[in-house]
Amino acid sequence: MDSRRKFLQKLALPALALPFLPLPSWANLQKPTLIPYQGPVLRVAIMGLGGYGTRVAEAMKDCKKAKLVGVISGTPAKIKTWQSKYGIPAKNCYNYENFDEVKNNPDIDAIYVITPNALHHNQVIRSAKAGKHVICEKPMAVNAKEGQEMVDACKKANVKLLVGYRMHFEPKTLEIIRMRKAGELGKITFFQGLVGFKVGDPNQWRLSKELAGGGSLMDIGIYAINGARYMVGEEPMWVTAQETKTDPAMFKKDVDETIQFQFGFPGGAVASCLSTYNMNNLDKFFLNGNDGFAEMQPSTNYGPIKARTHQGELSHPHVTHQTVQMDEMAEIILNGKQPIVPVDGEEGLKDLKIIDAIYEAVQTGNKVSLKLS
Ligand code: NAD
Repeated sequence: MDSRRKFLQKLALPALALPFLPLPSWANLQKPTLIPYQGPVLRVAIMGLGGYGTRVAEAMKDCKKAKLVGVISGTPAKIKTWQSKYGIPAKNCYNYENFDEVKNNPDIDAIYVITPNALHHNQVIRSAKAGKHVICEKPMAVNAKEGQEMVDACKKANVKLLVGYRMHFEPKTLEIIRMRKAGELGKITFFQGLVGFKVGDPNQWRLSKELAGGGSLMDIGIYAINGARYMVGEEPMWVTAQETKTDPAMFKKDVDETIQFQFGFPGGAVASCLSTYNMNNLDKFFLNGNDGFAEMQPSTNYGPIKARTHQGELSHPHVTHQTVQMDEMAEIILNGKQPIVPVDGEEGLKDLKIIDAIYEAVQTGNKVSLKLS
């Protein structure tokens, strides 16, 4: 590691100082120099070493500004594996009973909560009380009441609360947002968000009301909810929603299989969205304006995201979403950077208010009013 760093430092020297290296081409001089990052690094402990926690840990290997330094898990065997895989010292390992002790650990700055949805509320509040910044996976909680309590707890503890909205840093998504803000699509009239997959194993926590807080809407539908907001660039004023359940044995009471929902926005745009656990590879955004359109498919999976607009195909290179997300979140936490699309607890809370309203609209059949800003 040390010798690699020295090698990279050498590469950062002017080319003339390195006569033993081939002279770089003009094209290479245009590329950023390989100066190793020397600024502050966000030291992160991951809580919940499951499928997505593992993906985040792997992606963090390539982060410059964030580093995985700790784990919180209920499974000692997993802790051991992660320790050797990521070089995590024993003093940075906790379980769900004792992780409040992290408050005495100056080597951990932030906890990234990646557990089943219904556990986020308690785990985020405990992390905040331990004086650590918190990154929480989506959905931030299972309803707006809990979400508000989490926002309040983090404010009280003077720590930051961020939500794992990785698409807020995805280059093609950001380009479409730039185009919309610059007026290149004209007045926005319509958004369509279609998201879903076949959920599989009937015994998983995603199909338990107690652990998931609901069904597809909580897990995948939230991408269309959040996407409608950042694509249109306004907060919805009302929602209507309808549920379809074809398999009541798999999708029990309060666990939604398929929900269609519609939004109305203050500027006159409308949105039509579908969230499902019963259709594979459904992952499409469409944004229409009076002067143009943007279309993404896939729009929210791990990528490469594909996008085209009325001006043509977008060619921004694929990035590993979680690597960029964690580097950007380190900037937000350590340096107060303002992201283009917010990723804070208030942003997560807005989505939870909409989720509450969608479930209310499904149950009552009513058009439900929203007040988000
Ligand atoms: P998973 O089942 O793969 O992992 C969940 C982890 O939580 C496991 O390690 C499990 O042992 C642990 N856990 C702790 N207490 C538990 C309990 N009481 N019951 C069950 N498991 C318990 O799930 P996942 O796919 O990693 O999802 C975790 C969170 O991450 C969810 O909130 C999910 O919505 C979110 N997620 C986000 C993305 C994204 O792209 N941002 C992708 C996948 C999942």
